[in-house]
Amino acid sequence: MRLIDVSQTLEHNSPGAPFYPRPRFKLPRNKAATEGWNAEMLTLPSHCGTHLDMPNHKLAQWKSSSEFPLEVFVGSAHVLYFRDAAPRTQITASMLKEKLPNLARNRIVLIATGWAQKRGHNDVWYYDVPYLTPDAAGFLADHHITGVGIDHWTIGGSEDPLMSLTHTILMAGNCWIVENLKFGLDAFDLPQPVEFWALPIKLSKQVSGCFCRAVIRIP
Ligand SMILES: [Zn+2]
Repeated sequence: MRLIDVSQTLEHNSPGAPFYPRPRFKLPRNKAATEGWNAEMLTLPSHCGTHLDMPNHKLAQWKSSSEFPLEVFVGSAHVLYFRDAAPRTQITASMLKEKLPNLARNRIVLIATGWAQKRGHNDVWYYDVPYLTPDAAGFLADHHITGVGIDHWTIGGSEDPLMSLTHTILMAGNCWIVENLKFGLDAFDLPQPVEFWALPIKLSKQVSGCFCRAVIRIP
């Protein structure tokens, strides 16, 4: 068995959603040598790094990660490669249909745009990312997918109303969203669908974003 890591490294000051504070890591300078132990203080928004957006990200009465069985975070996933997607590329329902003419129910769909490799503190990465349009979200919701992922900070782009609409259409179908994935080229040579895992850490049900380690399992 082999695991391919498709997560981003979460670090001090990592770029993420521009409207949330950046992660702050207080790292001791080798206190183990002087005081016996190292321990770090991490101050993080719940939506940063590789994380799940749960339905209660949009509405408090919708489900959080702790209200789903863990099995929904594991499943057969299609990795769709939109190679070198241009800034603000709209990924539409017809583009998804072309790549997934026979999409079965309860699948996971992962969108690879190459923008994980462009992650940085600049306006292009914050505001000009490729994104799923609301009609693409509708196509996925109509096929009862369990989860969808993308390799940068926002599945629905950076601007409302489209950003909210895409999220809401997916979440209303009890779909989770994993953001800030990072695919290496090894993820594209695999027979599809792949076995994908994104187990959320166990947090209070009031929390709408959940850190996870996203992997593809090779049996
Ligand atoms: Zn999020």
